[in-house]
This record gives sequence, C-alpha cells and structure tokens, in this order.
Amino acid sequence: MLSNIKINRISQSNIQNVDFDNIPFGKVFSDHMFIADYRDGKWCDPRIVPYEPIAMSPAISALHYGQSIFEGMKAYRNPEGKPLLFRPEANHKRMNKSAERLCMPNITKDFFIGGLLELLKVDEQWIPKKDGYSLYIRPFMFAIDEYVGIRPSESYRFIIFTCPVGSYYTAPLNVKVSDNYVRAFPRGTGYAKVAGNYAAGMLPLKFARQEGFDQLVWLDGKEMKYVEESGTMNLFFQIGDTLVTPIAEGTILEGITRDSILKLAKDLGVKVEVRKLSIEEVFEAYNKGKLKDAFGTGTAATIAPIQTITYKGFRMELPPVESRSVSLKLHHALDAIRTGKSEDPHGWMIKLNDKIS
Ligand SMILES: *Cc1c(COP(=O)(O)O)cnc(C)c1O
Repeated sequence: MLSNIKINRISQSNIQNVDFDNIPFGKVFSDHMFIADYRDGKWCDPRIVPYEPIAMSPAISALHYGQSIFEGMKAYRNPEGKPLLFRPEANHKRMNKSAERLCMPNITKDFFIGGLLELLKVDEQWIPKKDGYSLYIRPFMFAIDEYVGIRPSESYRFIIFTCPVGSYYTAPLNVKVSDNYVRAFPRGTGYAKVAGNYAAGMLPLKFARQEGFDQLVWLDGKEMKYVEESGTMNLFFQIGDTLVTPIAEGTILEGITRDSILKLAKDLGVKVEVRKLSIEEVFEAYNKGKLKDAFGTGTAATIAPIQTITYKGFRMELPPVESRSVSLKLHHALDAIRTGKSEDPHGWMIKLNDKIS
C-alpha cells in the first residue's frame, strides 16, 4: 500500500546493548523510525531511517505555538511469537480527530497504518518475547513551517518511533482530586491528544507529588464537581456491582483502553454506566460501603488500581486490590486478547502481514 517507501537501514543494530529483563519505560528506542512529510497539500517522502536526532529550524511553529499531536499504542506477540497490533485503526482515527482540532492535515491510512507495519517489519526483533512485555509505539505529528507568525503551518512532519517496554506494574495509586487547577474545559481541546494539554498539567501534578500523591484526578472545568480523568488514564468506579465511567463530552480524552473495557464488561455481563459522576456521589457511595473499586485505564498500564482518593483533605481508602474481582477479570480478559491467548471476538487484533484495506 505504501509503494514508494525508502528504507535506510542502520549499519549495526543496537539490540544487543539492551537488557530486555530490565527496560525503563520510554528510554530505550528501537533501531529505526518512520518519517513522512506533508507539503503542497499532500503526504510524501515516506521513509524508514535509523533512530537519531533530527535537524530542525528553530523557527518551526510546533515549538512556538504548539501545533503538535501524538498517539500511543502497543504491539504484542501471540503464543507462537507472531507480532500483533492492538486496534491501530482506532489510534489512526483519534490522531485525525486531534489533527482537525489543531488545524493540521489528516494523515492517510496508508501512511499511518502502512508506515507502521513497514516499520515493525524492519524492527520486528524489538518486539519483546517475554510475557507481560510489549513494544510501545509513538506516532506524532508537528508543524514545521519556518515562520514566526501565528497561522496554521503549511508543512508538517509525521514520525513513528517505538520503545520496548516492560510490564508496567504500578503499586496501587494514591490520587488527589484537584480542587484548584483544571485540565480541560468545555469546547476546549481536552478530547484531543495535543501536546499542550500535558504541559498545562505538569505544574499541578508537581504540587500533588510534593504532597506525596502519585497522580491527580481532574474535575470538570466549569463547576469543578464532576470527575473526569487522571494523568493519561480514564477512570472507572465500581459502585455496588455497577461500573461507572464519566461520559466523554469533549473534555475527556476517549481512551481506546476505556472503550475496550466497556465492551469487555458488556461481554462479561458486568453492568456499566457511562454518565456524569460527581465527586460527591463517589463519597456517598464510599460512606455507604458501596465503593468497591476505582481504577485508571490506558495503554501504558492497562488497568491501574487506585488505593486512596483524597479530596479537600478527606481520604477514601479503597478495598485491597486482591478483592477487586471485576477489574481483575477485565484486565485478564483484555490481556488475553491482546496477546493472542484468547479469541478476538471484536476483531481488534492485526497481524503484521495482514492486508489492510
Ligand atoms: C492517551 C490518554 C488516555 C488513554 O488512552 P488509551 O487509548 O487508552 O491509551 C486517557 N487520558 C488521556 C489524557 C490520555 O492522553
């Protein structure tokens, strides 16, 4: 599908320098990256080159005005060792949603999925073989016009690089509900994976970390009443035997993990509700002994259990992780599909040599 791609291979692979038993998240990079440029109204010059620094003008508008978006996804291996990609079309769609919001061009499927498949063929050996490990994939796009003036750039660069990553085990999280800063507001950019959203969250997170918390839970930007999300994770609460996740109405980044958990919960007969959820309601459920579980969902951790939630000095202590049968079941079900250990009833998995229409 990507017929005119140029491949410039690294002279010697770096793979033997990597300790695959001990990989820090996001600091080890595979040998190659995929690059394409957008010029004169179209994507062109698809190429695979060694992973290395890129030379750029200091005047590119991404650096000054923030036209920059990204995605995050993973590749796994099935029990026979064949590489598998989890829902890459969903990432492609979301990237274009982000692009539209920042007035950037859509990336076509042959460049996004086609480029990714070509890159993974070249760097296939970088997809870890060990159970629980995977290859983290980072596609991103940024404005490269050399022009110090505010207007949508006319040229862009799209890059995909990858990082082998270990099993992202986190101890259950202690989170603080932000009662002063907000992450997103109605009609803003909260639903898009745009770089600036993350820069804006760093100062509040730094303060929360100084108080000993792992992460912040964001409330809605208008009333500061409804729970939205946490870090780069969507949130789920188990109240009684119902899973509740906040409804995405433009201020929440709609995770592909969130969507997958919602679908698997339905498959497993777990009651789910997607709706507004106030922090008051969470406290009420807690006080009545009905708050059984709270967890974040995202590509990096899949499901990250929450141990305590603190809001305006009040701390909720959640049941021990071992007792949380619903989220454990969902976590296992999702992992089994992604690693090809169980059937894939939703058609989520793509093999490297599958033909993409
Ligand atoms: C990426 C991201 C998520 C999770 O999305 P996944 O597709 O599940 O990885 C949730 N919230 C924010 C703010 C994010 O950036």
